[in-house]
Amino acid sequence: MASKPAKKPQSEDTGKSSPSTIDVKNPVTGELIGVVPKTDQKTIAHVFEQAQDAFPRWAALSVAQRGQMLRKWGDLMWAEQNRVMRMIRDETGKNDTGAFLELIGLDNTLNYYIPQAPKLLAPQRRPSLFPIIQRSRVFFKPHGVVGIISPWNYPLFLALGDAVPALLAGNVIVLKPSEFTPFTAMVAVDLMMQAGIPQNVVQIVTGDGTTGKALIDLADYVCFTGSTATGRKVAVQAAERLIPYSLELGGKDPMIVLEDANLDIASASAIMNACENAGQMCISTERVYVAEKIYDEYVGRVVDYAKSLTMGAGDGLDVHMGSMTTERELLRTEAHIQDALNKGAELVFGGKRRPELGPLFIEPAVLIHVDHSMMVMKDETFGPIVPIMKVSNEQEAIRLANDSEYGLSASIYTRDLARGERLAVQLETGSVTINRGSAGVAASIALPWGGDKASGVGRRGGPEGLYRFTKAQSVFTDTLIGTQASLTLLDPLTLFGVKAMRVVRRFVSDI
Ligand code: NDP
Repeated sequence: MASKPAKKPQSEDTGKSSPSTIDVKNPVTGELIGVVPKTDQKTIAHVFEQAQDAFPRWAALSVAQRGQMLRKWGDLMWAEQNRVMRMIRDETGKNDTGAFLELIGLDNTLNYYIPQAPKLLAPQRRPSLFPIIQRSRVFFKPHGVVGIISPWNYPLFLALGDAVPALLAGNVIVLKPSEFTPFTAMVAVDLMMQAGIPQNVVQIVTGDGTTGKALIDLADYVCFTGSTATGRKVAVQAAERLIPYSLELGGKDPMIVLEDANLDIASASAIMNACENAGQMCISTERVYVAEKIYDEYVGRVVDYAKSLTMGAGDGLDVHMGSMTTERELLRTEAHIQDALNKGAELVFGGKRRPELGPLFIEPAVLIHVDHSMMVMKDETFGPIVPIMKVSNEQEAIRLANDSEYGLSASIYTRDLARGERLAVQLETGSVTINRGSAGVAASIALPWGGDKASGVGRRGGPEGLYRFTKAQSVFTDTLIGTQASLTLLDPLTLFGVKAMRVVRRFVSDI
């Protein structure tokens, strides 16, 4: 396995920490990137007042006008890609590819929603009981102030990607980025202001979990991405206020390799999808189920690909894996490996720390002889582990894949595409990819993406990801203004009409 050394990042040492501030450090070098405040309640209340004040003016613009400003922002982000990517990498320790993927994901989001939103948000006509004389329309209205709470693993895409449909729908945003990665979001929002997005339409409040909690107390809608444990707390708090929310939570994504799979693609994919962002990806491959006929050959190829992976803190798209972001994640990864070994698994590759590259580097680990009694097959690892389990047939693979509290995403490898789709719908996950890692769904912004079971509530992406940021309002108009008043809803003429329409609808269904 090759390695690339780090280039010293530029430190923006802005001061010293105190109980009311947070030090943000580079996980590779330990250098201080900067210090941010833990925003207090009074300031958060003021931020929301400013957001409420900005809301009517932003909502009064047309969807196309909002789209033009967002387009300008997207172009500025692209022009400033080196600065944005440097900040992502300094805060997270990820490689160039990972940072670039965030920019591409955001750009895809803009490219999908900006042309689609005006059509999707236009008032829709719906059938009425009596066509022509009655008109039924649905209007899509913004919630108001949307609170976005985001994690550290994709500090650009997961903080601002959801802001795009929310803003297009006419909402304003208060964003609470992770305490580990606030500066990436701050750079992006700074560029928004330069792109002409009016003041206070998007504001950031820095801080920890307490700040996130305070935000839920004031928001009209909460868009949360993070762990299942925190997501549960967010749902309870939102339920107390009866405000709508969406939750994008943790996963334990299974991968199924059938006997007719292209083994090269399936083995490279296991390594790539388990090691992207050092495994700190919600849709990371965390369990692999392989048909027994090809099992030995498959394991051999996975190990070969693991050996040829390049890791390090150096620049360039040829560095396949960077550092983990926090020590907590590294310790959990090691605990999962140890628990598996204690219960009879075999480590056939990696799993060792690489301190010469940085304090939080760990080699990808390939484990065999694993089973569902082990943490590595049950709990979210969020680290670069590929645990491989032999299965005797496709139904056993489906049963084991579904044997999880999580239901985020899954992948199937087979040359028989019809068989792949037939099995896909048997999986209890929000999305399934065939012959491609789960990140393929994230790249297709037109597809709804989210979790079943403990992996979340609601969907981002596609029309679903836009409509969640709206309230559907129905407007029913009766055009018969000149008719006689009546005290009953069912006067003889109306009753006759109801009966007549009942018969007509047997023959004409779409009126
Ligand atoms: P956390 O749940 O720890 O934190 C997420 C965000 O919530 C952070 O901004 C955090 O602040 C904040 N927060 C913490 N406590 C509260 C609270 N009580 N109320 C409101 N907000 C709070 O997740 P991580 O940041 O560790 O992210 C990793 C997790 O995110 C993994 O489980 C991963 O699977 C999941 N994830 C899911 C994705 C999906 O699309 N399904 C995508 C990416 C990640 P602070 O960090 O400052 O404590």
